[in-house]
Amino acid sequence: GTAGCPLAATLSQNATVLVLERGGSPYGDPNITSEDGVINARARVLGGGSCLNAGFYSRAEADYIRDVGWNSELAKQSYEWVEKKVAFQPPMKQWQSAHMYGTKVGGSIFDTAGHRHTAADLLDYANPDGLTVLLKATAHKVLFHTDSTGAKHRAYLNSGAHNEIIISAGSLGSPQLLILSGVGPVDQLKAHNITVVLDQPMVGQLMSDNPMNAVFVPSPVPVEVSLIEVVGITHFGSYIEAASGANFGSFPDNDYGLFSPKVRTPQPTTQFYINLRQILTFIPKSSRSVSCRRSRQSRGRQRP
Ligand SMILES: Cc1cc2nc3c(=O)[nH]c(=O)nc-3n(C[C@H](O)[C@H](O)[C@H](O)COP(=O)(O)OP(=O)(O)OC[C@H]3O[C@@H](n4cnc5c(N)ncnc54)[C@H](O)[C@@H]3O)c2cc1C
Repeated sequence: GTAGCPLAATLSQNATVLVLERGGSPYGDPNITSEDGVINARARVLGGGSCLNAGFYSRAEADYIRDVGWNSELAKQSYEWVEKKVAFQPPMKQWQSAHMYGTKVGGSIFDTAGHRHTAADLLDYANPDGLTVLLKATAHKVLFHTDSTGAKHRAYLNSGAHNEIIISAGSLGSPQLLILSGVGPVDQLKAHNITVVLDQPMVGQLMSDNPMNAVFVPSPVPVEVSLIEVVGITHFGSYIEAASGANFGSFPDNDYGLFSPKVRTPQPTTQFYINLRQILTFIPKSSRSVSCRRSRQSRGRQRP
């Protein structure tokens, strides 16, 4: 997915890498999402969520990089490495141009012709001799080898110390795969007749949806189509994002608009939307007919 592709490309410089992706290619195949029984927008495609998300791109802030202990120079080089392939300056037309305190202008993974670039593009960096990508290849379980004391568990594809399995299946997929492999809360494992490899009570816990409030504002005249290019960062850590120009307000059955698996390319219409509870506090009167998205994100959250 979004994290796994750049990781695979990087590792392929010095190792032999096999990528298993349950979905298909993002190049030309529109079938890229999976609802997995619930209303959500999980990616099922090489490149993962970067193939279906809103395309807002931003570096993490310096204090975040310091707090998590990253090497700031390496982080800078990594951002530049990503940005060369998938980050573009957004056009910033009328509905994205309300500058005020706390407003952050992001990059976009849409290029100036409106084409989406994704994490799969980062595989261009890979050493082709070091990388194999299997599509439509779902991992069902990781097989662990437990040592004779029963205390240490290792997972590897080939015998030997110098290989490993990295799980990068998304915030829902990674814990799911661990639990299917016997690593998770013991009660859950037993309830599903899964052999316990390791009782790890935190796997799959503390998950929650990112709350979002949307305000849709109809316009009597067509307005430009724009996705999220600026973000208002509030003092209390919520973000306000805006989009305009698509028919965000009326959805057919089981279609939840911009942030839905059913999302389609926005066409110019007379509707646009904003999304947030505090919109009138943060948007000046002259631009009150925009649509913003408010989400629970910490100020330093990295948006790769
Ligand atoms: C609607 C929406 C809008 C968003 N907007 C933005 C935005 O504007 N900017 C931003 O920065 N972020 C945005 N995000 C968030 C961002 O897209 C995600 O945080 C990011 O894609 C997560 O990357 P990941 O690598 O952790 O997981 P994913 O990108 O989801 O990758 C996981 C991959 O693993 C595969 N997989 C899962 N299980 C298995 C298995 N068992 N076997 C094989 N393969 C498997 C999946 O098919 C998928 O390709 C948005 C997300 C959504 C859903």
